[in-house]
Amino acid sequence: QINYEKASFKDFENIPELDPFGWADEFDKYVKDWDSRGHWNYRQLSLNGCRPEVEMDIPGIANRNFVALVFNDYLGFTQHPKVKAAAIAGIEKYGAGAAASPAIGGHFEYHHQIEEKIARFFKRESAMIYTTGYTANSATFQALLKEGDIAILDMGVHASVIEGCQLTAKKTFPHNDMDALERILKSTKDKYRTRMVIIDGVYSQEADIAKLDEIVKLCKQYGAYLAMDDAHGVGVIGQTGRGVIELHDLYQEVDIITGTFSKTFAHLGGYVIADPKLINFLKFQARQHIFSVTATPASTAILKSIDLIDEEPFWKDKLWENIDHLKSGLKTLGFNTGNTQSAVIPVMTGDPQFNAEICHLLMEAGIYANQIGYPAVPRNNARIRMSVMATHTIAHMDQVLNAFEWIDGKLNITKKHGYPQDS
Ligand code: PMP
Repeated sequence: QINYEKASFKDFENIPELDPFGWADEFDKYVKDWDSRGHWNYRQLSLNGCRPEVEMDIPGIANRNFVALVFNDYLGFTQHPKVKAAAIAGIEKYGAGAAASPAIGGHFEYHHQIEEKIARFFKRESAMIYTTGYTANSATFQALLKEGDIAILDMGVHASVIEGCQLTAKKTFPHNDMDALERILKSTKDKYRTRMVIIDGVYSQEADIAKLDEIVKLCKQYGAYLAMDDAHGVGVIGQTGRGVIELHDLYQEVDIITGTFSKTFAHLGGYVIADPKLINFLKFQARQHIFSVTATPASTAILKSIDLIDEEPFWKDKLWENIDHLKSGLKTLGFNTGNTQSAVIPVMTGDPQFNAEICHLLMEAGIYANQIGYPAVPRNNARIRMSVMATHTIAHMDQVLNAFEWIDGKLNITKKHGYPQDS
């Protein structure tokens, strides 16, 4: 018997004594129980646009504007007139859809242009694109890592990486723990055909950064390949927004770079950057590339958003002004923001029920933030997660700070969870 109050949706993915329709019945009861306790069901919300402020109709609260901290549109380019114009021009020129998978004709000149531009953005020779960032990871690792190989994963890597590694052996090291990584590299030596260390650049939930320089050294020393997904770092990290790879000038040292066009690049799609021969191999071997349509004509938006990172660097400066203001304000109030080094700011709250209560009050205060729990993070490691954008204002950030201060007065979050802060 599942305790609905303590359960997470993961607990319903396989109930041995029931069939999938029975799982769905049980899950329905769980969702109704959740709703009956006054928690928000995010799936019911309907927003009027991807902006720093969104209008939402929330039963029992209001139909009004909320400061939204749920979008990964870090530089605000989804609303940029030049990006929108580029998408419209793509549709005018090529039509509304790509109409076929790349392998059977759906490979237009804009696909090549995006591949070339994203490869050049990372100072590399070749790239390929996928329908989503999720597919870029799941398809690539599924095509490359088979029985006899091993994926060595940071504990914090994205779900899509884990899905990509289902055909191969896996070992996981505690997040950013270099001694543990070295131990695995030592103990697996000569036991596998291919060893591939797979990391994120910026970690999506911890919001901190991979120790890329140390990892590159270890991979070289022990003869392992290295792949990195920097979905949340690009546009945000590095002098010119190339992400974590730029911090130590390691453009040529990461064998496979993966990423998404759905965050800073303000559209949809994924990319993989690697040696031209490997890219060519993937174009023939990655099932998701062969059998699935990729990048619609509106993806010409990406060509503009890539350019804008260099043409309008002030967006990144504004983003960091907002990040610094929010982060230092939360610290001053005594909240634990973990080790964030990016545009994602978590506020640690521990218990999922407590987290839900805080989120509820944030809604009342006009703040729309994400409520994160298991399985995205370990059990009882719940948190409020906020994504800051360049198009937020300092007044928005102050509104968030006032809301947290108000809620702390009611629920004593900082007394319960105001852990020692990072410096
Ligand atoms: N990698 C990371 C680190 C992510 O956070 C995400 C999803 N947000 C993805 C990959 C998948 O990207 P997409 O949403 O474009 O499929």
